[in-house]
Amino acid sequence: MNKTIFLTIMIVIVMSVVFYSSNFNTESFEQKRERILNELSLAIDEAIEKDRYKCCIDPPCTMCYMGNWLWDDGSCYCDDLIMKGEFDKVCPQCIKGIEEGRCISTRIEECTIPQVK
Ligand SMILES: [Zn+2]
Repeated sequence: MNKTIFLTIMIVIVMSVVFYSSNFNTESFEQKRERILNELSLAIDEAIEKDRYKCCIDPPCTMCYMGNWLWDDGSCYCDDLIMKGEFDKVCPQCIKGIEEGRCISTRIEECTIPQVK
């Protein structure tokens, strides 16, 4: 292969690698957060489709998916707990969502948090 062509190709490759990686490095905090939250909400949508995410608020909580509450396999059954009247086990994020009026529970009439705790 002609040396000049080879060098040109090498330079193009190196330049694109540098450009590509610098793009990642210059990602702002907001861009990064948006990208991660978007991935997270896609993952939750997927779990909802598989019937493993029975959240009681819309948009759904994220803390159950993250494993920060009762379930550590990326599932949420907060709505089932409301059905059973076990409000004390509903995740705090769902409780907050219900308080903000974002409840989509199957038993919508149960969407008032009992004044306990
Ligand atoms: Zn939840």
